[in-house]
Amino acid sequence: MDEMGAPIPLERLQRNLEKVRARIAEAAARVCRPVDNIRLVAVTKTVGVAEILSLLKLGVRDFGESRIQDAERKIRALGLKAGEMHWHLIGHLQTNKADKAARLFGTVHSVDSLRAAQALNKERLKAALPPLLCLFEVNVAGEAQKFGLRPGSSEIGELLKQCAAMPGLRATGLMAMAPYAEHPEATSRPVFRGLRELLSGINAQHLTAEPLTELSMGMTQDYQIAIEEGATLVRVGTGLFEE
Ligand SMILES: *Cc1c(COP(=O)(O)O)cnc(C)c1O
Repeated sequence: MDEMGAPIPLERLQRNLEKVRARIAEAAARVCRPVDNIRLVAVTKTVGVAEILSLLKLGVRDFGESRIQDAERKIRALGLKAGEMHWHLIGHLQTNKADKAARLFGTVHSVDSLRAAQALNKERLKAALPPLLCLFEVNVAGEAQKFGLRPGSSEIGELLKQCAAMPGLRATGLMAMAPYAEHPEATSRPVFRGLRELLSGINAQHLTAEPLTELSMGMTQDYQIAIEEGATLVRVGTGLFEE
């Protein structure tokens, strides 16, 4: 599991991946959702290039990293292989790193301010790449230590309206994190349900050019709950790498 230690054997990754995929399918079936509507983002922030290449071999195409400098180092080491992958920035974006973020990633899950959106738009246009897919991070549970937009305010609507006029960005959905919990059923489900309701509310107001369709929610502790509540992107790290 340590990036410095021996690489995780392919067999373990395969076993874990099969388990996670089976659980995704079970959760989807419980609520009669088509499983191809749900994408697994492998969060590789705790592992190295060897594990990323193994996951690629096992058919994973979506990879998530929290920190720009780690992503940059890994993507550089992957060389041409990185072009076969879709990279997701899932951690907080500092506006002064927008130039790198706009070049390294295909999707940013953590847009939470007008300043960040403007910086990403500018850099994406400068890089002459297709529009960057953007999800807006919402602090649904109102936790003091978390980043994200406040769900009950006009903040999100305003930001979406402004982003609709930025040709370098394409707003696709919302992202949230539930509080860490030993037993996430009681704590995660209301957060995920809240995010889904927020998305419906935004779509009913027609603030975006196209309706928002993506809900990035759920990690190892609670991705099955997230899928039951409508997640289209689940961000799983530990569950893929643990013994
Ligand atoms: C680390 C991280 C994850 C994955 O967490 P696991 O518990 O390892 O599955 C998901 N989302 C974000 C934003 C993260 O930082």
